[in-house]
Amino acid sequence: MSVPISQMWTVASYVLGKKLAGINRYPLVLMLEPLFRCNLACAGCGKIQFPAEILRQNLSPEKCLHAADECGAPIVSIPGGEPLMHPQIDEIVAGLVQRKKYVYLCTNALKLEAALPKFKPSKYLAFSVHMDGPKEEHDQAVCREGVYDIAVAAIKAARAKGFRVTTNSTLFDGANPERMRGFFDDMMRLGVEGMMVSPGYSYEKAPDQNHFLKRQQTTNLFQRLLNRAPRRWQFNQTPLFLEFLQGKFDLECTPWGSPTYNVFGWQKPCYLLNEGYVQTFKELMELTAWDKYGQKSGNSRCQDCMVHCGHEPSAVAATFGTLKGFLHTAKVSLFGSSTNLDQPALALASAGKVPPPHVGKSRSGSLLKIGK
Ligand code: SF4
Ligand code: SF4
Repeated sequence: MSVPISQMWTVASYVLGKKLAGINRYPLVLMLEPLFRCNLACAGCGKIQFPAEILRQNLSPEKCLHAADECGAPIVSIPGGEPLMHPQIDEIVAGLVQRKKYVYLCTNALKLEAALPKFKPSKYLAFSVHMDGPKEEHDQAVCREGVYDIAVAAIKAARAKGFRVTTNSTLFDGANPERMRGFFDDMMRLGVEGMMVSPGYSYEKAPDQNHFLKRQQTTNLFQRLLNRAPRRWQFNQTPLFLEFLQGKFDLECTPWGSPTYNVFGWQKPCYLLNEGYVQTFKELMELTAWDKYGQKSGNSRCQDCMVHCGHEPSAVAATFGTLKGFLHTAKVSLFGSSTNLDQPALALASAGKVPPPHVGKSRSGSLLKIGK
């Protein structure tokens, strides 16, 4: 795990404090969407389909900071839309950093290099760059050629100026595990601090509905992707969440862990589903029927969902709040992840002799981890 020690300490003390206070539902990551418009139009995006009058709107810095104060989560993720298109994004970030929030500004990087002078390097600020795979796959996912090269140049520029940089990658049906493993090596060589991975969620509004992963497909894919992951790969995610993605540790969704605030207010119940809005965080926590969500609830829209925003807070709570989660984390950190894979089958698949499941179809997608 490549999360800074100070962030880990902040999160651990926050979770333990909630546990000691007997509070079971608490926010960990505020998903702050200060606008919905974007300078790309990815086929798997569920955020840019609003009418023009909504896409034109920006949340004011005052509203953003008030939301952060109301919610109190130690981490703030800023997805969108493309946050760097917000005319006051620097004020929003500065206000959050001043509050000692760990900020992950999610960006497709088209405007990142030009925007760097507006920000100051800080342990509280990381740019989380949307990178959905190697050049060919990424440009296909974002539906525009040349975006991968721009993002690589921006990552180098940000690192050269001393900024923290992470990547976030969404995987869809058709992702090639071997090519993705090469991509992880490329990202680490670029000097990113850590990577985030997540399966895509099947947004009803996304134009491409054909390549979202079912739960079994997700665990198969991530087992192949993360099998015997070399130590040089740093993930900005908990070991338990990565184990969950491989079907090796069970987690139930805790949607209140990543509450979403945007131009409509607080979104019920999570970043992915939209079942109405309330105007205060207190109302969100008190008026949402939380039991209706998550796989065990039987809600059909939650059955295949294994995405970061619903399950990473569960992984953090399990790591710092349960003996089982803590011991599993310690085991994985010390000895690596256990493997469930049929090794000969993987070797053949890797050698291209038999196609592993889900390989060979085109893919398209967008981001959805701490970010989009
Ligand atoms: S399982 Fe997924 S879709 Fe369902 S509430 Fe959790 S995050 Fe939202
Ligand atoms: S996924 Fe992100 S980069 Fe792509 S269109 Fe949506 S907001 Fe823009």
